Formats: sequence, structure tokens, C-alpha cells
Amino acid sequence: MKNKYGFVFGMLIVIAVLSYALTSVYVTNSKGNKTEDNIKVVTSFYPVYIAAMNVMDGAENVTLENLSEPQTGCLHDYQLTPADMKLLESADVFLVNGGGIESFLADVAEAYENLEIKYVTDGIDFIEDEEETNAHVWMDIDNYLIEVENICDLMSEIDPDNKEIYESNRDAYMESLNELVEEKEELGSAVSENGMSAALLQESFVYLCETLGVDVVYTMDLDEERQVSAGEVADTMAAVNDNDGAVIFTDELYGADLAETVSKETGATVCIIDPCVRGDYEKDSYINAMTANFSAVREALLK
Ligand SMILES: [Zn+2]
Repeated sequence: MKNKYGFVFGMLIVIAVLSYALTSVYVTNSKGNKTEDNIKVVTSFYPVYIAAMNVMDGAENVTLENLSEPQTGCLHDYQLTPADMKLLESADVFLVNGGGIESFLADVAEAYENLEIKYVTDGIDFIEDEEETNAHVWMDIDNYLIEVENICDLMSEIDPDNKEIYESNRDAYMESLNELVEEKEELGSAVSENGMSAALLQESFVYLCETLGVDVVYTMDLDEERQVSAGEVADTMAAVNDNDGAVIFTDELYGADLAETVSKETGATVCIIDPCVRGDYEKDSYINAMTANFSAVREALLK
């Protein structure tokens, strides 16, 4: 009898020790998983990345990377590189602009079934010209504010542990952006008082003109390295000649030569605008670019 109880008691101790040991192993394991279980967020290109880095700054267990290089520019006809594919394969969330600017999106959705593709432009009205969607919505600061709000909501849902950080980052960024909104409104009033019309060498400037009340007399899509046709030169020239005082909006990289040529012939003012598709990975990049854009438009207005 005595031996029997001793055996049961012994077994109970063995079970207790085993359970403790197993629980410890389990707890250590789940802790191990937790640190490995980083959420990897990838953005498609520059303006989405700058907005996301502001919202996600300082959040733990979540990383942010951009698909394309900071100097890639607009993604029209962009081909995914092997490095891009590797990055997407390891990503959990892909934040995109939409409107057709990421032409590779259907292939990505098919190739990476577990990747969550999220549109940061939900609720934004895209401008349609000639049945084509103009995807460059970030050039209207009011749209950009919606993007920041959307990124905060999306990330809070995906990663509720960091919700408070996302929300306080959003609030801080919104406050800085609000100064820019005030500047835009002042400039918009000046534009409507004086009147301003513009020939645009890039489609993205349509959004800037819309938000400032600038009358668009001509648009071409010179946002990548390509040959400008004689017809396009003639059309730009004619648009400027037909609209007395029209200003030419161009970027520094692709349109500046054409703008200079037309300006020499017509005497039109050239206004250099930053399309915010390339630059440094700095939190202030969007604000700095748009501040410079508003100054450029103001200067052209005063000429
Ligand atoms: Zn573009």
C-alpha cells in the first residue's frame, strides 16, 4: 500500500515538472516568434513612402521599405526588378497609390497571394482626362491629407499594438501639413484675384492647378525620358500663343528644355514644379517640395 501511494505521488511530481518544463518551452517559443514576427510593409513609390514613413516613425516590430529607388520617379511602365520581387515575397502589406500607376499590380496580386494590397487613395476622386485616369492625386495637398489619414487607419487595423503611435504621428504630421494648406489657400486667393492660365508639360500638375484654381490650357505627359515630337512642340507653342500670359509649368528633369524653347519664342514665363516623385527619404520631403512649388507659382504670378 505504502509503495503504491509513493508511486502515484512520484508520478504527480513528474507530471508537474514536465508541465512546467513544457509551458516554459512554449512561452519561450512564442516570445521568440513575437520578435521574428515583424510586420513588413512595402510602399510602391516615393510619395506613398514619404507619407507612410511619417505615420510609422518609431513604431516597433514593423518595418517599412520602398519598392522602387528614391530616384525612380513615376512608375508608368515600370518593370519589377529581381530585388523588387524578393522584397514583395517577404512583405506582409503592400501600400499602393492605384489609378493605374502601378501597372504591375495585377501580376503582383497573382504571384503573391498572401500579400495584402492596400490602396492609400481610398475616398479620393481621381481626375479623368480623355477617358484616362490621372493617377497623380498627391499633387493636390487635400488628397495627400486623405492618404495620410488612410495610412494611419490601415496600419492601426493591421497592427493595433502600435495604434497610438500611428495616431500621434498622424496628428503631428497633419499639423505641419496644415500650415501648407493655409499657404495653398492664400495662394489660391491670389490666383483667383489675378487670374492665371498654364500650359502643363506633366499630367501631375493638373492636380496642383485644380487645387490652386489655375486655368489649364494644355497638358502633355512628359514625366519620363522620351523624345518630344515636333507636333508637341508646335502644340505647346500654339497653346501659349492662344492664351495670352499663359505660364509654362514644367519639371526640372524632362521638360525644362522644351519649356525654354517655347519661352524663347513666345516670351512665356517658365515655372519649375517638383512632381514629388523622387528625392531624399526625409520626413519633410513632401512639405519642402510643395512649399517650393507654391513659391514658384507665386513668383510666376507676380511676373
Ligand atoms: Zn506620372
